[in-house]
Amino acid sequence: MDELAKCTCIICGEPKSEGIHIVSEFICDACEAEMVHTDVKEEKYNYFIHQMKQIWVQKNA
Ligand SMILES: [Zn+2]
Repeated sequence: MDELAKCTCIICGEPKSEGIHIVSEFICDACEAEMVHTDVKEEKYNYFIHQMKQIWVQKNA
């Protein structure tokens, strides 16, 4: 494997080398951990859902 490539997190917008890939998009460890512990009623969860919808819109455009 080559050196760690940094991907841009779709939540915080920062380039990170560690995180998860969802639908070819990237979410960094920090944001992923935050999401896991975020109640569904909270704004950040809604923001995440919004971001995911943006991805789907882009994929289907
Ligand atoms: Zn992030």
